[in-house]
Amino acid sequence: MTKRDYYSVLNVDRNASKEELKKAYRKLAMKYHPDRNPDDKEAEEKFKEAAEAYDVLNNDEKRVKYDRFGHDGVKASGFGSSGFTDVNDIFSHFSDIFGGSSIFDDIFGGRTQRGRRRGAGSPGADLRINLKLTLEEIAAGTTKKIRIKKQVKCDRCNGTGADKSTSLKTCPVCNGLGEVKSVSRSVFGQFVNITTCHNCDGEGRVIDIPCPKCMGDGRYQGEKMLDVNVPAGVNDGSYMTLRREGNAGKRGGEDGSIIVVFEELPHKYFVRTEDEIVYNLFITYPQAVLGAEVEVPTLNGKAVLKIDAGTQPGKLLKMRGKGIKHLNSSGVGNQIVKVNVAVPQKINSKEKELLKQLSEMPNIKDSSKAEEKSFFKRFHL
Ligand SMILES: [Zn+2]
Ligand SMILES: [Zn+2]
Repeated sequence: MTKRDYYSVLNVDRNASKEELKKAYRKLAMKYHPDRNPDDKEAEEKFKEAAEAYDVLNNDEKRVKYDRFGHDGVKASGFGSSGFTDVNDIFSHFSDIFGGSSIFDDIFGGRTQRGRRRGAGSPGADLRINLKLTLEEIAAGTTKKIRIKKQVKCDRCNGTGADKSTSLKTCPVCNGLGEVKSVSRSVFGQFVNITTCHNCDGEGRVIDIPCPKCMGDGRYQGEKMLDVNVPAGVNDGSYMTLRREGNAGKRGGEDGSIIVVFEELPHKYFVRTEDEIVYNLFITYPQAVLGAEVEVPTLNGKAVLKIDAGTQPGKLLKMRGKGIKHLNSSGVGNQIVKVNVAVPQKINSKEKELLKQLSEMPNIKDSSKAEEKSFFKRFHL
């Protein structure tokens, strides 16, 4: 295949100015750009051909040699009109020539940024909610229905913020890139500044006619019902993150999260220690002496607990598996019942008389000394 004349490729005069060359090349590059002609081999070849022609003719030294010797001139001189084999070579090559502000930046908004997710709006904010839970709910786990006021995605425009799909346009200032490059020269050299496009706030898209429901925001203040699945065994102050359930992102941006902070409500009967619950049981003196069967509350109804005869105050009784389910392992904590002996603060004369009689009985009289002895035996051996 013979090479076509570079001037004919670009369709310009032999004495075309640099500006004319650039204009001609830009036109062809736009037409045959691989982005616009996906999987079109012929377009790709034309694109490469134009790039090669422009590469040579735009370079004064190469152009002189080409004018005098034709294709052989540039080949022999080692300037390498060897042809671009890969489209990507063209981009890297030209961005060198133009010092970061390549012709492609002008036309397509930059090759290096190709593939970047365009048009993504700003992300929605996270929301924090406090979820009050009873000990019963914590013990077994629960599902709570909650109503959240939050920014929801606009259903009219599907979050785009545009009145119709045709009202959404690629930002003409940054060509959809969201960034603007500017090159400044100084005695120290050339500087390339990249700044967020002011026209589209970095979104790469602008809206001609905004959606009337959300005023172009892509979201509006609304409410949502949400089921929060609370696993068993969570702790007061611990939290759980529900991803993408927070405020909707602006114009298609990522949704925020909801941070659910658990709050354990105080219980009427129980005090929680990790996964155990402690219940303070009060029995009477005769019950402690004689033994008894008493009713105690649990997290799921009442249960009967047997008190042995001679039970001492402060004794801890264990009710297995009546506590809280472990959060990160199988198994359930226990309910601990602490036995206390109630001492009446008000008695009538008959009770007083009987207690006086009782206190003179030998086993009662000596019981405190006997208990003291066994207490020291237990703890000071
Ligand atoms: Zn809308
Ligand atoms: Zn822009």
